[in-house]
This record gives sequence, C-alpha cells and structure tokens, in this order.
Amino acid sequence: MPSQSIKHAVLPSGELVPQLGQGTWQMAERRDRRGDEIAALRAGIDLGLTLIDTAEMYGEGAAEDLVAEAIAGRRDEVFLVSKVYPHNASSEGVIAACERSLKRLQTDRIDLYLLHWMGRHPLAETVAGFQALKHAGKIRHWGVSNLDTGDMRSLWNVPGGRDVATNQVLYNLKRRAADWDLLPWQRERSIPLMAYSPVEQARLISNTKLVRFARDHDATPAQVALAWLLANDDVIVIPKAGSVAHVQENAKARELRLSAAQLRELDALFPAPRSRRSLEML
Ligand code: NAP
Repeated sequence: MPSQSIKHAVLPSGELVPQLGQGTWQMAERRDRRGDEIAALRAGIDLGLTLIDTAEMYGEGAAEDLVAEAIAGRRDEVFLVSKVYPHNASSEGVIAACERSLKRLQTDRIDLYLLHWMGRHPLAETVAGFQALKHAGKIRHWGVSNLDTGDMRSLWNVPGGRDVATNQVLYNLKRRAADWDLLPWQRERSIPLMAYSPVEQARLISNTKLVRFARDHDATPAQVALAWLLANDDVIVIPKAGSVAHVQENAKARELRLSAAQLRELDALFPAPRSRRSLEML
C-alpha cells in the first residue's frame, strides 16, 4: 500500500493516527474463528490499519488477550485503544482496570484509553484517574465513548476535561444523529470523532440502496460505507473484520475518494437528521 493511500486524522495533541483502523468487538468468542481473527488483525497491520480498538468488556478481557497475541512482536507499529467499563471508572477504579488491561494486552502502555459510556461515577473522578494514568506513562491519551453533546459540554467544564482526545460513537450512513450538533461541536474544538459500527454490524452491506450505489460506482457496499466516513478528515473509522478477505476489501476503501456529487447522492439516499435526535448506542 503506497503511504499516500494511508490517510491520517489529527488528535488534539497534534499526533497523527491512521484514519482507518480495526475493531475487535465479538472477536475471541469462538475458538474455531480465533486463527482467522488473529490473521485478520495481522493482515490489517500489514495494510496500515494499525489503530486497533478493543475494551475490557469485549469477551470480558478475551478480546484484549487476542489482540496481545495478534500484535506480539509488533507493539510499536500499533496504536492501541482500549476502554474502561463505566462501573470501574472511579478515580481509583480506572487505575486498577487499566492495570488489568495492560496485563492482558501484554504491554506497558495503552495509546488511547476511553470511558466506554457514561455511568454513575462523576466525570471529574474519571478524568482525575485518566490524568494519573497519563502522568505514570500507562496511557498516552484518554477519551470517551457514547457521550452526546450535553455530556461533552459537561466534560468540557470538568478540570482537565479539555484534554479529551476523541469521542467514539455510533456513526454510519444509517445512524447520523451525530451530524446534528455533536460532530459540529467536536469539530469546533478539533476533537476527532471515532465512528463505531461503520457498516452497522454488516447490516448495511445488504442495504438495497447501498448495494445499487456501490454497483454503479464499481465498489463494494462496505467500501462505500467506509469511504463515506473517511471523506471527513476528522473521523476515525474502526470496522471489525474477522477474515483477511474482509480486511483487504475494507482497506481498499481508502482508495475510493467519493466526489462531491457522489457524496450528495449518498446524502439523498441516507439523509442527515432534520431535527435533534439522541445519540444511539449499540
Ligand atoms: P461493524 O464494524 O460495523 O461490523 C462488523 C461486522 O461486519 C462483522 O460481522 C464483519 O464480519 C462484517 N464485515 C466487516 N467487513 C466486511 C466486509 N468487507 N464484507 C462483509 N462483511 C463485513 O460493527 P462493530 O463490530 O459493532 O463496530 C466496529 C468496532 O467498533 C467494534 O468491533 C468495536 O471495536 C467498536 N465498537 C464500539 C462500541 C462502543 O460502545 N464504544 C460499540 C460497538 C462497536 P466478519 O467478522 O465475518 O468479517
């Protein structure tokens, strides 16, 4: 893959991360798929999909174990993202949870550590825990996930809250709630958005409108769904693929540069909301 095909997003710190990465939810759940999943993640790294997203929740730690195996000997090539459960996100709990994740991931640092969703612990406490972890070199950046605009505003007013590196949310052609005010709010503050379930957990791939559009433009539905997201420089996209073939197909989405006319066509097929909608979660 020529390096100019690998587009990057910029974190608020100025660090570049690959715009197309890899998800791991529902990996490590089936023994008979383990080899394929590890091969898929490794093939993804070879293709420049070096941002890998996981969480302590996925398989209750089993996905982190699998990621460790996939990146063995290649830690420095990877930008590792993991997430803390909200019930572990007190200022002390987040430190203990991170230590457990580091052990499973067999590494000394997580590049980006996210609060998985809002829970009962005040954001100020979670941020204090993140800051302590950052100070200790155990995480390099922190962020949040599934926070709607109101929650982001609250975070912005918490001590240290403006260090947030990203907000990972459900965002794809069929789930455009973030377009209303969340994405603009983040954009004004140069906080990239990380789009999860970019192919709607495979449901978009059989969407008739998308299938027709993809056929007309000589691409696959997955590639169009990913390219639509990648058209925004400040959106990071993390499809999960459990086979090398899917990873290779998804990686080619970076070469599909949608024209303004094609983006307008997709807007007409999958319209943005016309009024405020709450952010959905999967
Ligand atoms: P997704 O990436 O939209 O879809 C994954 C599904 O699509 C899998 O069944 C996969 O099948 C299939 N797929 C991928 N590429 C394909 C292709 N080229 N052709 C056909 N099928 C393809 O859904 P997701 O896993 O929910 O989201 C992605 C990642 O975001 C997760 O893995 C996780 O890391 C993160 N996430 C975060 C949250 C959160 O609350 N923060 C929530 C959901 C997800 P195969 O496995 O067979 O390839």
